[in-house]
Amino acid sequence: MAYELPELPYGYNELEPAMSEKQLKIHHDKHHQGYVNKANALLEKLDKARQDNSELDMKATLKALSFNVAGHVLHSLFWTSMSPKGGEPSEKLLEAINKDFGSLERFKAEFTQAASTVEGSGWAALTYDDTSGKLMVMQLEKHNVNLVPAQKLLLVVDVWEHAYYLDYQNERGKFLESFWGIVNWEEVSKRHEAL
Ligand code: MN
Repeated sequence: MAYELPELPYGYNELEPAMSEKQLKIHHDKHHQGYVNKANALLEKLDKARQDNSELDMKATLKALSFNVAGHVLHSLFWTSMSPKGGEPSEKLLEAINKDFGSLERFKAEFTQAASTVEGSGWAALTYDDTSGKLMVMQLEKHNVNLVPAQKLLLVVDVWEHAYYLDYQNERGKFLESFWGIVNWEEVSKRHEAL
């Protein structure tokens, strides 16, 4: 298998009460596993067509491949963007956030607003834009729309309804409020350090 479901770096119940065991288990074991399975199946379909030298609907196949691979990558980043211990950004990351957003509070407000206003299904992300050398907040639709090539993802939050509906129903804002308490700033700071 080209893609594999990563194990969570914490127990299913360890993000409670921000994220319940049931919510996390279904999200990880069913939804994320689904993207992994579909991405692998699409790679197999491509391989098989090559072996048979048969034609494929490349547009549809690659669109589905992009959606499912991006879903796998984003969920893998999402799990490690959270931790039961929460924490604070490193000094270096905080400096960069202050430089590019004005303050940590302003960054959090922009990120929260980006996450709150995703239409349908999508994500908010803190990215590093290689071209300008700036941190940016981006809003992704589905898993793979509005991604900017060469931007590195540092922190992501899933705001598909499947990410929070069992715990918060329609109150995405409450989910986001709880999310800030379980952000794994140590890991996000490491990603920033590694740029
Ligand atoms: Mn999800």
